[in-house]
Formats: sequence, structure tokens, C-alpha cells
Amino acid sequence: MDKVCAIFGGSRGIGRAVAQLMARKGYRLAIIARNLEGAKAAAGDLGGDHLAFSCDVAKEHDVQNTFEEMEKHLGRVNFLVNAAGINRDSLLVRTKTEDMVSQLHTNLLGSMLTCKAAMRAMIQQQGGSIVNVGSIVGLKGNSGQSVYSASKGGLVGFSRALAKEVARKKIRVNVVAPGFVHTDMTKDLKEEHLKKKIPLGRFGEAIEVAHAVVFLLESPYVTGHVLVVDGGLQLIL
Ligand code: NDP
Repeated sequence: MDKVCAIFGGSRGIGRAVAQLMARKGYRLAIIARNLEGAKAAAGDLGGDHLAFSCDVAKEHDVQNTFEEMEKHLGRVNFLVNAAGINRDSLLVRTKTEDMVSQLHTNLLGSMLTCKAAMRAMIQQQGGSIVNVGSIVGLKGNSGQSVYSASKGGLVGFSRALAKEVARKKIRVNVVAPGFVHTDMTKDLKEEHLKKKIPLGRFGEAIEVAHAVVFLLESPYVTGHVLVVDGGLQLIL
């Protein structure tokens, strides 16, 4: 059976690093993001026979169409990575309702929709592996990130429940929870100040998170696990 992996949020940051690692391991990849040009550029950089798709994970019909297109052009998806995510950091009293909705829809509902869409083919194949990218703040909380933390905390509950639901079908569901990682999402943060708080003294790199994602994707006896990749931040939060 071909190893076909759909990477939502694969055009930049952590998802892109996962794609680079998996391309080297011989997977056929679907690189998915809202911006098709970005997804195409990322897929093209991988070399080989990988495809790009435009999809907003927050929109159910987009997700369904993307799974239909992937199956048509790549075959059944048996590996799924949910790395699409956004943040709209602000204190709750200043957070607009539309920013609450967009974070919950992209970070939580989006992963639910892609997991649901992936289930049919995974159940038919009697196997599959999913990694959802959460965050350390989903476990510990962070001031100025209450809604983002809720979206990522919800993702842990969702993933663990789904892991129980589908284990008998030999489908595994795990979570990687990163700390601060150098990507577009963190480029405006005050790194010099923040890194003093991190036990390992630095931000992580996307490839360091990608190794954890691929480890869980490929670990046949691990499900319902949350793997923290945060330079030790959880020790002091
Ligand atoms: P980036 O901003 O670098 O990349 C985000 C990716 O998600 C892009 O490919 C983007 O493409 C895609 N994306 C965003 N919204 C949507 C959407 N609605 N539908 C489909 N694709 C979408 O982020 P990171 O790589 O830093 O983050 C990856 C994941 O890791 C996120 O879930 C994030 O919350 C999480 N995380 C990141 C941390 C960090 O420090 N960087 C720390 C902890 C967790 P496009 O814009 O074209 O849609």
C-alpha cells in the first residue's frame, strides 16, 4: 500500500518541516493550505510526485472536496497531519468575537473536520495514523491566549477521545504540543525576553517539532499520547 499523507498547513512552518522529513522517507504527500501558490511552492521544493491543494480547514465543503481530490489523484490517505493553525493573541476582554470564532474554527473544528473526512478511507483500509499539532498552552494556559489555549486544549480532549473510538480499527491519534518555535507565527514575539524563561534557553526549530510528529505517525503501539516539544517550558509553567 502507498504511504499517502495529507499535511494541512504544510505550506509553511511546522507543517512544511514535516513535509520535508516525510518526502525524504518516501511518502506521497498532499500539501494543503488556503493559499494555493504557497502550497504549490512547498510541494515543488520537495521534488518528486507531491501535490498541492487549496483548502480552508474551517469550511466543511472545502475539506470534503479536498479529500475527494486527494483520493482521486494520490489514492487513499492513510496518514494525516493537522498543522494548520492561527493565533489572535489578546486579553479576553479585548478579544473580538470574530477572532474567537476564527481561532476555534481553524484550530479545533478544522482538525475535527479533517479527521472525520479521513475516517472513511482509514476504516476501509483498517488502519491509519493521525497527528494533531496542539500547543503547550493548551495544557498549561497562557495569559493573553485564553481562546487559543482553549482551542488547543480542546484538541487534546478531541484527539484522546477519538483515539479510544477508533483504536479497534487500528487507527491511531496522537498530539504534539510545541512550545515557542521559529515560524511566521512567532516572528513578532520578543524572543530575547521570552527565551530567558525556557529551560533550554532558546526557541525550537520547526524541524525539531517535525521529528516528533513523524515519530508519532510511525509508532505502531502509541495512541492517545500528547508529546510535548517545548525546550522544558512545561517544567516552569
Ligand atoms: P505558520 O503560521 O508558520 O503556518 C501555518 C500554516 O497553516 C500555513 O501553512 C497556513 O497556510 C496554514 N493555515 C492557516 N490557517 C489555515 C486554514 N484556515 N486552512 C488551511 N490552512 C491554514 O504556523 P506554525 O507552523 O507556527 O504553526 C503550525 C501549528 O503549530 C499551528 O497549529 C500552531 O498553532 C501550532 N503551534 C505553533 C507554535 C509556534 O511557536 N510556532 C507553538 C505551538 C503550537 P495559509 O495561510 O496559506 O492557509
